Amino acid sequence: MGPRTTGRAVGVVVLVLAALLGSAYALGRSLLDDPPRSGTGTTASVHGAEYGEQSAGGPSPEGTPSGRAEAGQDGHRAAESLDDGLFGSRVTTGSSEVALTFDDGPDPQYTPQVLEVLREFHVRATFCVVGENVQNHPDLIRAIVADGHTLCNHSWKHDVQLGQRSPNTIRADLLRTNQAIRDAVPDAPIAWYRQPGGAWTYPVVSVAEELGMTPLHWNVDPSDWQAPGATRITALVTRGAGPGSIVLMHDAGGNRQGTVDALHRILPDLTSRFRLEALPVDGIT
Ligand SMILES: [Zn+2]
Repeated sequence: MGPRTTGRAVGVVVLVLAALLGSAYALGRSLLDDPPRSGTGTTASVHGAEYGEQSAGGPSPEGTPSGRAEAGQDGHRAAESLDDGLFGSRVTTGSSEVALTFDDGPDPQYTPQVLEVLREFHVRATFCVVGENVQNHPDLIRAIVADGHTLCNHSWKHDVQLGQRSPNTIRADLLRTNQAIRDAVPDAPIAWYRQPGGAWTYPVVSVAEELGMTPLHWNVDPSDWQAPGATRITALVTRGAGPGSIVLMHDAGGNRQGTVDALHRILPDLTSRFRLEALPVDGIT
């Protein structure tokens, strides 16, 4: 073996070693990064500042069904009507009435402000509440119900992956949330369930229905959880709303001042064009 051949062999060995090290590094990185990145594109976390209903499909104001919901590992997704990723969840009120829905609360800073502006315009809405927030602020749940608004279960801790879990896990989560609500307001019906992130699956829809709740989606989404500002939230809601719309907004999960400010502009417009009603306590059939 001459010097040149030796040099080349050493070079090859170095390259191979470098490649192996690189692969190991990349593998290590991907393993380390996997939990947050394999998620949904949604910034939800147990104690995170930002909840949000935005699906993984991008910033569509319509809340496009997400790829996650399509993943369907359960093998039950046979019915063609369920192929939209929404699994039969409600996207409209079924009448000309418009329904405002407020997610992720209750929140001690913003929920009272939302209640105040709704009262000012004599509008009743539906609050999709997170179990651990209910447990922490039962007084706010009582205030919501006292004002004539209706309630929707939004899972215990806003788990956007809940639909991927076992039916028993899903059932326990929804029951725990309902129990927290009942502890605060024993007589208030809980007719609705909204899956965090809109990440519907067949099992989560099935369990919600089994527990007597109608799966609730939306068809107007100003992505207010991303705090785009009151002007943009106002424009997206007033332009997007039509007869039967279910509007998604947030009274918790981050800085919601933009949503509160937007409501002061949205409500004069919407109440002049539509009848705004809370979703009914007996669900929509
Ligand atoms: Zn939410």
